[in-house]
Amino acid sequence: MSRVHNFSAGPAALPTAVLERAREEMLDYAGTGMSVMEMSHRSRAFIDIAERAEADLIELLAIPDDYQVLFLQGGATTQFAMVPMNLLNGAARADYVNTGSWSGKAIKEAGRFCEVNVAASSETTNFDRIPAYSEWSLSADAAYLHICSNETIGGVQFHDLPDGVQCPLVADMSSDILSRPIDVSRYGLIYAGAQKNIGPAGLTVVIIRRDLIGRAGSGVPSMLDYAVHAEAGSMSNTPPTYAWYLAGLVFDWLKGQGGLAGISEVNERKAAKLYGAIDASNFYTSPVAVENRSRMNVPFTLPDPEMDVEFLAQAEARGLTNLKGHRSVGGMRASIYNAVPEDAVDALVGFMAEFENERA
Ligand SMILES: *Cc1c(COP(=O)(O)O)cnc(C)c1O
Repeated sequence: MSRVHNFSAGPAALPTAVLERAREEMLDYAGTGMSVMEMSHRSRAFIDIAERAEADLIELLAIPDDYQVLFLQGGATTQFAMVPMNLLNGAARADYVNTGSWSGKAIKEAGRFCEVNVAASSETTNFDRIPAYSEWSLSADAAYLHICSNETIGGVQFHDLPDGVQCPLVADMSSDILSRPIDVSRYGLIYAGAQKNIGPAGLTVVIIRRDLIGRAGSGVPSMLDYAVHAEAGSMSNTPPTYAWYLAGLVFDWLKGQGGLAGISEVNERKAAKLYGAIDASNFYTSPVAVENRSRMNVPFTLPDPEMDVEFLAQAEARGLTNLKGHRSVGGMRASIYNAVPEDAVDALVGFMAEFENERA
């Protein structure tokens, strides 16, 4: 068996130690004589798994008491609709900041429910930055302000937050949750599909301030109502049990890495190595403004798109996989989430230098 260096944007690499533990526990979980996949979600064994995962997530993110954690399904894409369905509360308008593909999709979906004020956009510069806070035009009557903390495709990330936001701040953190410490109290709602930095696909984590629960209109289906899920401890129907269990193993692994402070240091080092290699070369280029570069998704281009195929083939031969950039951006993209070890980045940087020497 050999494992590759996997730079997939999502579903993405999981920590090897987590997969090994899941393998050990696969056929007989903790003496139950069955796999977690085969258990009732109402069983004592699974309820322990679920509660431990939630407690560990609360500890990792230092989630305050007045917030509720939900383990849902439907991906971040379902949250694009659930957020307006639950938070508009009669208001006609919501503010959105457009920083790339995922914000764009959130804006489009919200448009089905309300008037969307695009408070700021970097579209004219091809989504290469976060628009300066001084240029944001927030509406006085917005029900909430939505941002995407890390644009997975464009590789643009918020490294701080604007001050003085009056309405609840909602963040799509699908691709950078748990990559660094954050102040949860600055947000009204945080959501993230699991398959980038939490666990396998099929699970979506929502962290919501409790006063924002219970505002869905009467026409909202119960499966799309945060209050229903909160009331039922995320077990209003059968939850994605195995994904929830694996997320719990990832949270436990993260605690062993020194929590978010610990993993954040590693992430900064990984990103610094990769951007350092790009900036030091006359061959590779980063399309993103330096101050907004993502520490999770690193797009870069070669001097001539004709070289892309050869670059990818040689990388693949060295076990460096899933480096092809998104079709909307072109070039390469290395996703270096928590579970991508530093030696994978070292191997990539080494290969990039070799390829440059050969081709430049
Ligand atoms: C992947 C991703 C999504 C979409 O997630 P699904 O789980 O496929 O719905 C949304 N937003 C961001 C930032 C993402 O990275």
